[in-house]
Amino acid sequence: MNAPHPPPELEPDRVVRELSSSRIRELRAIVPGDRLVLDKDGRARYGGDESPLEPVPPAAVVLARDARDVAAILAFADRERIPVTPRGAGTGKVGGAVPVYGGIVLSVERMDRLLDIDPGSRLARAEPGLVTGRLRDAAEAQGLYYPPDPNSLDTCSIGGNVATNAAGPCSMKYGATRVHVLGLDVVLAGGERLTLGRLTTKSSTGYDLTSLLVGSEGTLAVVVAVTVRLSVLPEARRTLFVPFSSVSGAVDTLVALYRAGIEPAAAEFFDRQALDAMSRVVTIPSGAEAALLFECHGSRASLEETLERMAGVMGNRALEVGVARDGAALRRLWDARKEVSVLVKERYRWRRTEDIAVPPARLPAIADFLAGLRARTGLDIVTYGHAGDGNLHVNFLYQEASRHDDVEQAVSALFRRTLELGGTLSGEHGIGATKRRFLALEQAPALVAAQKRLKKALDPHGIMNPGKIFP
Ligand SMILES: Cc1cc2nc3c(=O)[nH]c(=O)nc-3n(C[C@H](O)[C@H](O)[C@H](O)COP(=O)(O)OP(=O)(O)OC[C@H]3O[C@@H](n4cnc5c(N)ncnc54)[C@H](O)[C@@H]3O)c2cc1C
Repeated sequence: MNAPHPPPELEPDRVVRELSSSRIRELRAIVPGDRLVLDKDGRARYGGDESPLEPVPPAAVVLARDARDVAAILAFADRERIPVTPRGAGTGKVGGAVPVYGGIVLSVERMDRLLDIDPGSRLARAEPGLVTGRLRDAAEAQGLYYPPDPNSLDTCSIGGNVATNAAGPCSMKYGATRVHVLGLDVVLAGGERLTLGRLTTKSSTGYDLTSLLVGSEGTLAVVVAVTVRLSVLPEARRTLFVPFSSVSGAVDTLVALYRAGIEPAAAEFFDRQALDAMSRVVTIPSGAEAALLFECHGSRASLEETLERMAGVMGNRALEVGVARDGAALRRLWDARKEVSVLVKERYRWRRTEDIAVPPARLPAIADFLAGLRARTGLDIVTYGHAGDGNLHVNFLYQEASRHDDVEQAVSALFRRTLELGGTLSGEHGIGATKRRFLALEQAPALVAAQKRLKKALDPHGIMNPGKIFP
């Protein structure tokens, strides 16, 4: 079970748990038929996401068909001061799509068309509800590559990825979603439609509102179309699984690879407890206290050279350097990576996961801190994640509800140490509802206030996803 989070603090007079019959009549006129969901079970289905936050049924759910629906709903909601929570596929981990203030959940799941792939300019355009894996497959069919690869690739939406600035293993080489977004079509509170960005890979025209919108977690606008740049599909890929006899051996090696100028596409880290859990799916060599799972991209010739150089750096630090030569071995390793989150929690009653990131050279320091925290608190702390980006998913696992407070303190200590090391509270999941009470640890009051002023300029009545990001 996910460890409980304290319920979000709300401003009671802004909460909208139900809509009057006249408002419902107006909504029906805007989105007739099955685009408006009002029954209890239907609303309940749109109350939660993959975060530990208790689901909250909204007063109404709108299943938008196109940008016109979105604009009409936002105009109505702004006039009536009804909170709106944009929703993609509901796979978010921080409660971003949970309508804590009630009101309307505005789902874009039906806006799921791939609008265009242009190999001549290496661009793709999609509606926001398109499942990211479908965009990737469509690009690959043209010899192109959409690099952001969250582990939820087969279920999350491209609009949700934009809203959270999602990332994945290969962000190490190619960057998170933001790097790939060239332009967005968005609708503001009030219903105004804007086209942001451009179709070119560079531009110096005006403020970069596209980047501002990426990672804004539905608090500024609803994304109704996304234009992304595509890369060329790598000619070849290699996966290496490299176990180590200590955590420090693994993280020091990663830093050494950086220093040597070697750039794998992905470098995933697992501590011993994560490896124990994965051993139900793949064979883990005995004596392994940590491991790195690499993916390397390049031409066939350049990859052989890269692997040799990596083996040179890792040689006497690693227990072995295992290159997955056949497709089945490769799939087993990446399947184990995908499942590790589920596997680690199987033996425990409670789990709390945090998603911190530090500069990669400071991974050894955070690894030391986690070892000390484990010893000091007696909590089982299991760590894995996208170490190539310094991004670790730290899991606190325990059996007794009486330990909730200890975990809360351990999480606070982890955040503080992360920030001392120049890191951040969220590498890829966002702040949402679950982490907003910690935002002030990372951002100075003046910075929070400046962001609130920006929000006010775009969303003067504060209807866009209230209760998220800001304390
Ligand atoms: C098994 C699993 C593995 C995961 N692995 C990763 C990973 O490797 N990397 C990673 O980054 N994340 C990961 N996630 C988290 C999640 O998949 C991402 O945060 C994803 O980007 C959320 O997309 P979604 O479509 O589900 O968005 P939702 O959960 O529906 O919404 C997320 C946020 O985006 C906003 N939003 C959604 N659509 C729009 C829109 N059209 N316009 C404006 N705002 C919008 C919502 O209001 C909310 O704040 C994982 C989740 C699961 C369950």
